[in-house]
Amino acid sequence: MRIKDKVIFITGGGRGIGRETALLMAREGARVAVVDRDAAPAQAVVDEIVAAGGEAVAQAADVSKRDGVEAAVAGVLAKFGRIDVLINNAGITMDSTLAKMTEDQFDRVIDINLKGVFNCTQAVLPTFLAQGKGKIINASSVVGQYGNFGQTNYAATKAGVIGMTKTWAKELARKGITSNAVAPGFIFTDMTALMPEKVLDVMKDKTPLGRLGMPGDVAKVYLFLASDDADFITGQVIGVDGGLVL
Ligand code: NAP
Repeated sequence: MRIKDKVIFITGGGRGIGRETALLMAREGARVAVVDRDAAPAQAVVDEIVAAGGEAVAQAADVSKRDGVEAAVAGVLAKFGRIDVLINNAGITMDSTLAKMTEDQFDRVIDINLKGVFNCTQAVLPTFLAQGKGKIINASSVVGQYGNFGQTNYAATKAGVIGMTKTWAKELARKGITSNAVAPGFIFTDMTALMPEKVLDVMKDKTPLGRLGMPGDVAKVYLFLASDDADFITGQVIGVDGGLVL
């Protein structure tokens, strides 16, 4: 996979799919900026990468706060001098049925999952434009494609991410910038650990490949989309769901 020496800026890199991706990219020779809300988990991932002989830097930033995001981009540019790939991976859930969802629950999920993607992409865009090349990769979800009980806020963000992904593919293709998304099904991370086991069993039964996903299943698709092998792919939403959405 052609990823060696590329600078990967990944949000939500401290845990779950983001952590797995940061470690995989580093093993493949990329230089990784691990961005997370808290410094400690991001630094722990960086320490692991460096101990294995890789190159990485940690940046603490809340993606919903533009100032922090801009400072993180500046920090990565100061360290590595370029950014080749932005992976907008950070995301949260705050589930509730429509009848019970508070305005705060709605706003917080929108601020992180939707506006956070906008904030980070806008902050990295001048670098991509100056380089004449860049890749944007966004975390959507099957839930953005077919909805989910109790996830009005989350489904809205993940559908919105698909809209932004396709818009940026159209706006930025002539500038050498691609924009794609992944739509994972149900992946074993802290996020799904919040869900009742009964619900996860139902999802497993509904999945044609007969299992839930692992963080590495998504990390490997991020890796492909980040590599030169994906240079002619833009505006796509790649399902990583064991055939759940067919
Ligand atoms: P996770 O295990 O909960 O990890 C999410 C990471 O994002 C954490 O490191 C978290 O930091 C960070 N984060 C949260 N809010 C942030 C913010 N405001 N600014 C910066 N970082 C923030 O989640 P995951 O399962 O790996 O999910 C990764 C992405 O895949 C998300 O966008 C999610 O919606 C999407 N996805 C997941 C699944 C699934 O089944 N797991 C399915 C479809 C899509 P803290 O430690 O501070 O919370």
